[in-house]
Amino acid sequence: MGTKTAAILLTACLLLSACTAAKPESAATSNNQTQATSETSDNTDKGQGTASSPTNSSEQAGSNHGNNSTAQTTPQTGKTVADSNEATNSTATVNKTYHLDKAYNVVPNQQGAEKKVVLLTFDDGPKEAVMINKIIDILDKHKAKAIFFVNGYRVKEHPELLKLIHDRRQPIGNHSWDHIVLKNKSEAEVKKQIESVQKIVEETTGQTPVFFRPPHGAGGDVGRKVAKENGLLYMTWSVGSLDWTMKKSQPNKTDAILKNVTEQLHPGSNILMHELPWTTEALDSLLTRLEQKGYQFVDPQSIEVPAS
Ligand SMILES: [Zn+2]
Repeated sequence: MGTKTAAILLTACLLLSACTAAKPESAATSNNQTQATSETSDNTDKGQGTASSPTNSSEQAGSNHGNNSTAQTTPQTGKTVADSNEATNSTATVNKTYHLDKAYNVVPNQQGAEKKVVLLTFDDGPKEAVMINKIIDILDKHKAKAIFFVNGYRVKEHPELLKLIHDRRQPIGNHSWDHIVLKNKSEAEVKKQIESVQKIVEETTGQTPVFFRPPHGAGGDVGRKVAKENGLLYMTWSVGSLDWTMKKSQPNKTDAILKNVTEQLHPGSNILMHELPWTTEALDSLLTRLEQKGYQFVDPQSIEVPAS
């Protein structure tokens, strides 16, 4: 009897921990350190230089969604666009005028359209209201939108922070539930990691994400397949701010972030940043610098996504 009860309790604990504790939230630092080493593993040249070509053929295999299958727009995103138009963005309607190429750069669909654009993205949140508000204040000041790629376990802990991002009219992307490397996982596990985030974001905001970025830039073929099945546009990035490699004690982080981004900057740059204090601190200067260099901030809603 006692043994049986203990066995049941143990099973229940294991089941619970599988859902909630695979990536302890308290590991914020080690999380970033992990990214420092492995986020670059599939994007080996993204830290330096311009990433104009695929860096890993297996990671790139099947990434035809950028040019081909995303040519269609979806009813689902049509709704998202309409919703977001009520926001601060002054463009009347957000047409699907851009797509991602195979190196995840933003490219205009038609010749003559503005090529000198950048896509802003913030990964690994939502973490803190103060930081999120400050980031969005600065985005608003520059009339910019950014994709906030969130992790499900963080949303579960702080659904109000996800609502905050949504209420402040910034698009939300799926960054998997646990922030684990997906590329060697089973399809069932990858589905769970991606679809659980679709569900919690939909439940919390009423909208389903249309962008997916695999943790550590490593989703593999299964990650791409599952993303596509869920109507998600799969992307890593093409310019790394390298903010995830920085330590609290490091001096002049704003200068370092500006340098890292501007050194790699090119038309269509898909810029990876994180919800981190020093990135928040650097953001106004960074966006000003980008504007001075003649870049515009692309509205993520104008990027084609797969039909779901
Ligand atoms: Zn990440």
